[in-house]
Amino acid sequence: MTSMVTGEQARRLEMVYGGKVMLNEPMKRYTSFHIGGPADALVEPHDVEALQRVLQWAWNEGLPVFVLGNGTNLLVADEGIRGVVVRVGPGLDDISFEGAYVRAGAGVNLPVLARECAERGLAGLEWAVGIPGSLGGALTMNAGAYSHTVGDVTREVRMIGLDGTFSVKTGEEMQFTQRSSRLSHGDVIAYQALLALRHADPDEIRARTAGYMKDRKIKQPLHMPSAGCVFQNPSGRGAGRYIDAAGLKGLRVGGAEVSQVHANFIVNIGGASARDVLILMGVIRRTVYEKFGVDLVPEVRVVGG
Ligand SMILES: Cc1cc2nc3c(=O)[nH]c(=O)nc-3n(C[C@H](O)[C@H](O)[C@H](O)COP(=O)(O)OP(=O)(O)OC[C@H]3O[C@@H](n4cnc5c(N)ncnc54)[C@H](O)[C@@H]3O)c2cc1C
Repeated sequence: MTSMVTGEQARRLEMVYGGKVMLNEPMKRYTSFHIGGPADALVEPHDVEALQRVLQWAWNEGLPVFVLGNGTNLLVADEGIRGVVVRVGPGLDDISFEGAYVRAGAGVNLPVLARECAERGLAGLEWAVGIPGSLGGALTMNAGAYSHTVGDVTREVRMIGLDGTFSVKTGEEMQFTQRSSRLSHGDVIAYQALLALRHADPDEIRARTAGYMKDRKIKQPLHMPSAGCVFQNPSGRGAGRYIDAAGLKGLRVGGAEVSQVHANFIVNIGGASARDVLILMGVIRRTVYEKFGVDLVPEVRVVGG
């Protein structure tokens, strides 16, 4: 694949935004699957102004931009990602408290945020402690667990368009639905959100948090590289139950395997390619459809190529 970003452009971008530009950066270093070919250019803006300068520069150069959080819901193609990958992480991870409200940067780790809130006796994010994404990724995916979602507590999201224009949306305007939101189209980047929590007994919050983590450790293959649940749950029954009932646990394609622990996880048992995972996902979809007439919808986002 030919890179869309030249060395000369990378030098100019470094001047413009005041940070490092990594050329041909392997995306497998940034995904929980440990899969993914090179990004033409990868940048990590240290504040909102730097983020704006990166976006305006890419917009003027006519380069595509992909926004990356913690890479825990992504399957990046073996060919990698063309254009500029903008990682929203450290630098955009401030947390501040205003009564029962928390204002947090999109780059903050969800488990860190959940624990900080718990420490202050603020309830409402206990379910998020085992979700390894960033807040920005969670707002995009409307991440959730145990009948809660991030959309339930979101009051406001501050974002920036690919042309560098700032805007603010209320929780209602965010269009949160099953594993999707206003951010899902990839044309705006969240940099901060205001979440509304509630005061509660810290011991009860700690007990709930510990209970959720215990449950995950039993039910999920947390020791293996994965991107969490591969398919969305169809109404009424978990996707994993269909995959398990179809006898697919343990099925392998190359280095990708349907987890023996949780059938809706595909794990990288060593050297898996994106192609391996895509083939395995295809086999799962076809088999579940043939056996149960259920068309599973991917939850993992497939990007690049
Ligand atoms: C072990 C494990 C367990 C998991 N358990 C759960 C679970 O219980 N519930 C659940 O919902 N998910 C779960 N996940 C999936 C994943 O952690 C969540 O979807 C998480 O919210 C993704 O966040 P991220 O920062 O990793 O996003 P990424 O994977 O980096 O990106 C996901 C999408 O969000 C976009 N995006 C990221 N940041 C921004 C931003 N700032 N602005 C705009 N768009 C952005 C990306 O472009 C991409 O389209 C799990 C994953 C793993 C590996």
